[in-house]
Amino acid sequence: MSLARTQASALAVPDRATSVGAIRERVAAWRAAGERVALVPTMGNLHAGHLSLIELAAEHADRTVVSIFVNPTQFGPTEDIDNYPRTPAEDEAVLAQQGKTDLLFVPGIADIYPHGTDRSVSVQLPPIADELCGRSRPGHFNGVASVVLRFLNIVMPEVLVLGRKDYQQMVLISRMIHDLQIDVELISGDIVREPDGLAMSSRNRYLTTEQRAIAPELSKTLELTAEKLRSGDANFATHKDAALETLASVGFKPDYIELRNADDLSPADPTDNTRAQVLMAAAWLGRARLIDNVQV
Ligand code: AMP
Repeated sequence: MSLARTQASALAVPDRATSVGAIRERVAAWRAAGERVALVPTMGNLHAGHLSLIELAAEHADRTVVSIFVNPTQFGPTEDIDNYPRTPAEDEAVLAQQGKTDLLFVPGIADIYPHGTDRSVSVQLPPIADELCGRSRPGHFNGVASVVLRFLNIVMPEVLVLGRKDYQQMVLISRMIHDLQIDVELISGDIVREPDGLAMSSRNRYLTTEQRAIAPELSKTLELTAEKLRSGDANFATHKDAALETLASVGFKPDYIELRNADDLSPADPTDNTRAQVLMAAAWLGRARLIDNVQV
């Protein structure tokens, strides 16, 4: 037995369900008792960002279901799903320590894709899914939406909790909920950062020590750019070039920096202060593709 498991067993270890039938049964009992249920979907390798969403879930619902599922349909053919960090014992230990998860849902691939992943029914998102991160990850968001829809149908939660770290994902899932008339309230949580500003992410563990020291430059650059816009200097094209150059000069391979309207991700007019805007970026640092965003 690992140390993590030994510690977990002394704490509030969440119940675990692996089958669709088992989870439906548990949630049905809660619902019959008039309890509100929240779902926090994750791919595991849990960190403080995930835990903050579970905290938020507990504020909005009586029961919290956390799912851990590394979803094959959101990984592209060149993306290495096999190397995605999987830390089930540690995940269970941190959930036990936090003590706010009522049920941990850890399905297998066949539970979620009973007809296999290749010929499964999938969600086709609107074209905004092909921009920003979708440009370099074709089909990624359709895969995300397809798995989130399945989880919503299985758990049927009143509340879905997502992080604003994955801002495009959050907006697209919101769009799917409205467009497909799904009866769930979407609540989003702030980005949780390391003390040096780096947004927490399971992918940060791909960074070498040297790259980890460079990584906070992404959030710093975004914050600096946002500050220029906030101070009324609306020449975004110039700011963007400067930001891309800064990132490249410290060792990133920038993918994009874009200014978008926060509600629908349409391109934002930097002189328009009637709409909330979000500055979004993705950049490669070694093996890791880091994403981040700041509200302007
Ligand atoms: P993942 O396990 O990476 O698929 O993420 C699961 C959920 O956690 C998603 O809703 C993410 O947006 C959210 N999340 C990931 N990292 C953070 C973070 N640093 N702060 C807040 N939420 C996060």
